[in-house]
Amino acid sequence: MDILILNSADVRRLLPMDACIDAMAEAFMALRRGEALNPLRLVMMLPDQRSVLAVMPSYLKDSMGVKVISVMPGNHGTPYDSHNGAVLLFEAVHGQPLAMIEAGAITAIRTAAVSGLATRLLAREDAGDLAILGVGVQARTHLEAMQSVRKLHRVRVWSRNLDRARIFAEREAAKYGLTIEVMPTVQVAVAGADLICTTTAAREPILMGEWLAPGVHLNVVGASLRTTREVDTAAMVKSRLYVDRRESTLNEAGDFLIPKSEGTVDDSHIQGELGEVLLGQVKGRQSAAEITLFKSLGLAVEDLASAQLIYAQAVEQGIGIKVPFGDHEAD
Ligand code: NDP
Repeated sequence: MDILILNSADVRRLLPMDACIDAMAEAFMALRRGEALNPLRLVMMLPDQRSVLAVMPSYLKDSMGVKVISVMPGNHGTPYDSHNGAVLLFEAVHGQPLAMIEAGAITAIRTAAVSGLATRLLAREDAGDLAILGVGVQARTHLEAMQSVRKLHRVRVWSRNLDRARIFAEREAAKYGLTIEVMPTVQVAVAGADLICTTTAAREPILMGEWLAPGVHLNVVGASLRTTREVDTAAMVKSRLYVDRRESTLNEAGDFLIPKSEGTVDDSHIQGELGEVLLGQVKGRQSAAEITLFKSLGLAVEDLASAQLIYAQAVEQGIGIKVPFGDHEAD
């Protein structure tokens, strides 16, 4: 049996944002229908209490997979990306490994694609005043995703390191022919915005509810532990909350669990999962003035759905390196 090795350049070529958004929609509906398996991830915290190694298995349609990924917040500003690892894709009949695919690029694209999907479902149709908090890997792909689903007329970015924010703004503005304004504080970055993406590695709130304009949609992406959050209690309380998965939210989302532990929200604050909105089981936005918040944690099935798409395209186009791997009678 051969295994196909696909690197980050292959992933970027074979996983365009629009196709990934559609694949995420299919995966969320499959999960909701009970056609996919997605146990909670295993997260091993390293002794520095910041970096982790996470293991994320899942099953969808005719295959199964596992993402193994290191998350090193200290890599920002170095030549290394924050997320590194691999998605191992298996067929689910004989359990043969099919491909090993670079996971940093998948994570960058699929996370933003899910925010793109949430924005498509929950933001006002005319939303186009975007604020991005953070200027790392996720900020880059979120800018692309937001452009895929809404017509942007203003883009502001904030990061605590203004030099890095300026470099980000210049690079991305040149790439898309946009004007990107670098803002000195979060408060001015989000003033009047109707789309906000929080993509920082902050552990304490950086975004306060009192700064949110009516009608804004937020994609809250950066924190994925029960003890960390990017938005304060007021922001959570005044928003209608949508999630990728209830079970993950109730176990991993500090943005929700910290207000819950304070008694300001309970589980009924979760309006629904994206899959429920897609299947018409739960309503999305109800009025132009309400605030919608999508809390993203990232699910293994998002990586698997991406890997399936990449693998199918790679086989069709003859991309990647085949390596003889396990023993097989027919070999
Ligand atoms: P990067 O390391 O590339 O970027 C991190 C960004 O966060 C930088 O702009 C950095 O700014 C900023 N930052 C770091 N610490 C703080 C802080 N204390 N306060 C404010 N800003 C801070 O990371 P990624 O873009 O890859 O990931 C961003 C976050 O998203 C991470 O926490 C990651 O774990 C999470 N993530 C979530 C996923 C999901 O599915 N929901 C998937 C992938 C990632 P500075 O220049 O000042 O250091």
